[in-house]
Amino acid sequence: MKDKAVFLDRDGVINEIIYHKEMGIIDSPFTVDQFKLLPDVHKAINKFHKLGYEVIIVSNQPGLAKDNFTLATFEKITIKMRKELKKKGAEIDAEYYCFHHPYGKIKKYTQICNCRKPKPGLLRKAAKDHNVDLSKSWMIGDGITDIQAGQSAGCKTVLIGRMKCDLCKLMEDEQIKPDYIAPNLYKASLIIEKE
Ligand SMILES: [Mg+2]
Ligand SMILES: [Zn+2]
Repeated sequence: MKDKAVFLDRDGVINEIIYHKEMGIIDSPFTVDQFKLLPDVHKAINKFHKLGYEVIIVSNQPGLAKDNFTLATFEKITIKMRKELKKKGAEIDAEYYCFHHPYGKIKKYTQICNCRKPKPGLLRKAAKDHNVDLSKSWMIGDGITDIQAGQSAGCKTVLIGRMKCDLCKLMEDEQIKPDYIAPNLYKASLIIEKE
């Protein structure tokens, strides 16, 4: 029998999005210090495990392609994430990242790939590696591309956002509809528990 999984976007779901004043952009953390866990993420992860789901991160990190941070920094951020979750008694089962961007600065990562969400490549690879039935799985993210990737892979989806969200109009126009909207990951875990 196949397993089921909850696929999680990282930035805006597990950790805070950062406002980079000097660049005037809202983006991923570029430094270890900027990485801050959101409240109750550990509780959500533990609930998913209790419900029998594997918990797998699937995240676009084009900051590598754009030269916003190095692979070494990215790895330090990942270690901090795991450590902080572990301190609170939670563990992620696996992590899948896309470092690419079609218009990057770093040649190695500048490409059109099959893993960058909204494509379902990361979810498909994770499902294959972990023997996961995508139709019994969920994708949770705070962006339209997360919902698109989840739907393309055949998962149910939860959008993390406010009910009165800016994305809603856009999603309506594109006919992308998450199955649920939740204000944070813990609330999303309660929705999945009830399903
Ligand atoms: Mg995000
Ligand atoms: Zn990629």
